[in-house]
Amino acid sequence: MSVLKDRIRRQIANEGPLTVAQYITICLGDPQAGYYATREPFGERGDFITAPEVSQMFGELVGAVCLSAYQALGSPGRFQLAELGPGRGTLMFDLLRMAALRPRFLEAASLNLVETSQRLRQIQKKTLSRSPLQPQFRDRFADIPDGPLILVANEFFDALPVHQFVKTTDGWRERQIGLTGDGDLAFGAGAAGLADDAVPEEIRAAPEGAIFETQPTANAIAEEIGARLAEHGGAALFIDYGYLQSAPGDTLQAVRKHAFDDVLAHPGEADLTAHVNFQALAAAAARGGARVLPPLTQGDFLLRAGLLERAGALGAGKSHREQETIRDAVERLAAPGQMGDLFKVLAVTAPVYRSRRLTARPERPKDQGLRNRFPSVLETRHEN
Ligand code: SAH
Repeated sequence: MSVLKDRIRRQIANEGPLTVAQYITICLGDPQAGYYATREPFGERGDFITAPEVSQMFGELVGAVCLSAYQALGSPGRFQLAELGPGRGTLMFDLLRMAALRPRFLEAASLNLVETSQRLRQIQKKTLSRSPLQPQFRDRFADIPDGPLILVANEFFDALPVHQFVKTTDGWRERQIGLTGDGDLAFGAGAAGLADDAVPEEIRAAPEGAIFETQPTANAIAEEIGARLAEHGGAALFIDYGYLQSAPGDTLQAVRKHAFDDVLAHPGEADLTAHVNFQALAAAAARGGARVLPPLTQGDFLLRAGLLERAGALGAGKSHREQETIRDAVERLAAPGQMGDLFKVLAVTAPVYRSRRLTARPERPKDQGLRNRFPSVLETRHEN
């Protein structure tokens, strides 16, 4: 049995059941035995593959969107560039290669990586060692200095703890993890409840046994970001596995070595995620004062950002095999049934973005588009 499972069982025996949120926090974040502290989650040898690890095109296109956001902001002389939960640093590495097309962007940017895992910080530092900007690591979003902000977060919110509530004859009760008679971990309903009016109307009528998830940690961060954007200007892109409308359901899942695992089976050894409720995330950012754009599927977002053009430029003159790899990556990232519609993209901006800032600066001659310049400026990423 894993060290962590043993520890969790003893803790429950001594102090009582854990909420689902407490369990997730321990499994992922425990500084000694937690998942992010001990495992190499990403890539073929890890437990799962994220979009930036599928292809360099993902980070490049996110980078192109950041360049547009910077321009729309009036190309300020200083701004905070930030990523939440950068994993191996691959997305930022590719984003910065794209950003190099606009030297002013790089000169103006201070790079902030919000990352709690010391182990992943080292990997991110190494990945970015050949980049034009070196990162400042931050423990929390709130530690990023004030100023205009351009922020990206890919598969960050799904790693934050969710609470679950079960509908019982006695109302909504918080789902907990306790011990069976044999000392195994098991789910049960705790004493703490949730008032009916705290449950969205469309969920209230769910049948007994239904599960309702809340994501207070994710919402609090989205609200903080919304408030920062409202005050200082800028834009944020949240990309995640999730759903667009609140609905009942248990979305907590464990993935270990590219296969689903029992959520309670291998604490600290499996990745735990819950799907992001984008309706709640958008509402939180709006509460903070930001303007929230209609969410897109990842497929639509990438196609609008120029995925096919980028794939064409990247594949030009390459071998048949390399072209095949690029085509596969396009499929994986954008096709329905793959990441294309499972993942959603939410863009959040300052409310006065358009009216105040865009007119503040005379337009420069229309850029002929980054896309036309792709082939000469951006080559295939060299793997670390
Ligand atoms: N964005 C990366 C990795 C996603 S995995 C990619 O797309 O490949 C989630 C990342 O969030 C990891 O880097 C993890 O260490 C980090 N993380 C998880 N919880 C965090 C928290 N509360 N604060 C900051 N970073 C966190």
